[in-house]
Amino acid sequence: MIKEWLIGIGIALVAFLGLLHVNILPVLFLLGLGVLLWIVMDRRTAATPTTRDVSVRHDISFEQIGGQEIAKNELKEALDFLRYRDRIKSLGIRPLKGILLTGPPGTGKTLMAKAAATYTDSVFLSATGSEFVEMYVGVGAQRVRDLFRRARQMAKRENKDSAIIFVDEIDVVGGRRGQHSHQEYDQTLNQLLTEMDGMNTTQTPFVLVMAATNRPDILDSALLRPGRFDRQIKVDLPDKDGRLHILRIMAKDKPIAEDVNLEHIARETYGFSGAQLESLVNEAAIIALRQDKKTVTQEMFRDAVDKVLMGEKTGRRPTDEELRRVAVHELGHAIISELMRPGTVSHITIAPRGNALGFVRQIPEADQYLYTKQQLAQQINVALAGCLAEELHYGDRSTGAQNDFVQASSLARTLVKCGLSRLGIVDEEHLPDQLLEKEVRYILSEQEKITQELLSPYKADIERFAEHVVQEESVDGKEFRKWMESMQPQSLASAAVSRPQLSTSEVSPSM
Ligand code: ADP
Ligand code: MG
Ligand code: ZN
Repeated sequence: MIKEWLIGIGIALVAFLGLLHVNILPVLFLLGLGVLLWIVMDRRTAATPTTRDVSVRHDISFEQIGGQEIAKNELKEALDFLRYRDRIKSLGIRPLKGILLTGPPGTGKTLMAKAAATYTDSVFLSATGSEFVEMYVGVGAQRVRDLFRRARQMAKRENKDSAIIFVDEIDVVGGRRGQHSHQEYDQTLNQLLTEMDGMNTTQTPFVLVMAATNRPDILDSALLRPGRFDRQIKVDLPDKDGRLHILRIMAKDKPIAEDVNLEHIARETYGFSGAQLESLVNEAAIIALRQDKKTVTQEMFRDAVDKVLMGEKTGRRPTDEELRRVAVHELGHAIISELMRPGTVSHITIAPRGNALGFVRQIPEADQYLYTKQQLAQQINVALAGCLAEELHYGDRSTGAQNDFVQASSLARTLVKCGLSRLGIVDEEHLPDQLLEKEVRYILSEQEKITQELLSPYKADIERFAEHVVQEESVDGKEFRKWMESMQPQSLASAAVSRPQLSTSEVSPSM
């Protein structure tokens, strides 16, 4: 608005001067110069629109990051050189220039970098590897230069003596050199290394580079050399206590019902990342909103876990006949699962979600990193039980077990490769495919027989309870166990089994 006014007045003034026969050429020249200058300035600021300066508010602290105790401590320790720079200088210690955070997505790497800035009272700038990659050669390198320049400017402006630059997805620019089709990546990487090499302790403000990747294996070794990213910190998926910690943090500002057992939820969410837990708590709150409730209940959390794991409920509406078949199928999984490891069925549902027509969710007993031969065999039993229950009830099978079979054979393969099959100890690399396939087949057919035997005493009961599942759509573990106890099966299986994580990446609808 003001601009238009000024232009208008300017033109009127020039015209007026012209009318008075004043020489207006110098005036016009100056005006033209001004406009040119203005355009150039505009271009320059537009050239770096991609990096975000988040210096204004980055009040993320380490307290807001759940789990990750080891990573947090390691990082704090590494950052102490920034907090006690004088002592480091007097001891002549080479400063740390780069810290690399590695780990799967959503585990809190970005949060860590922000907390690091708070902890060291530094300004914080962030950029993503992919932002540096452009069609035009040289732009990436220019952006790197710009980033460091702006980091120093910003620190000076805010009167801080350090800045943290966070480069997310560093693998995009820091992949091994010479692998890419054009040289843009290389130039960007070289520029980054040059900037890092140029930094030293006496410089104020000091710039620390933090970077994140989930592919540390493909990084150019030049990046990991001393004086560059010489500190690597692993930010892994949280264990059970970590998950509980994160859930507590996320639930703090939400109206959670009193009977909600976060510990139970932490136990059920094996393999969840921090970001997934955040989304879980959020989904639960959304369910409360939809149901017009004031508090978030345990049941809402349960549905939210399903949603995060399997996806949104689909509009798919199976026929009644299909629903009954899905119920029978899921009961097969549930019965064997409960036989192998009592008390672990969390719930059974036949509401279609994502790519699954129905599923049984289990509570993992504890985070587990090693499995015995027996446990793997029992997992195969659970995976096969769905289609075998269908067979027991209907006399035939359906296409819904495709994913179960993928799971079962992958488990069988693990048995062979880990030396737990009839073949004994094997070297995975020198194991002929044919031999492997033959043994996998043998294991599957053996376990199929075992599972059939375990299921057969339940034939009549499955029929009755399936009807109940169809009506209720979702049956929780307690109710299911009560039903299991009301029967007297002839054969009981031994010890423990744990059902593998349900995966959502299947081709056809599964159950
Ligand atoms: P990454 O950078 O490792 O992919 P982020 O730091 O971007 O993960 O995390 C994304 C979101 O997930 C965060 O904003 C936060 O809400 C949540 N989150 C992830 N990990 C944690 C954690 N350890 N503690 C608390 N929240 C977390
Ligand atoms: Mg991130
Ligand atoms: Zn199944």
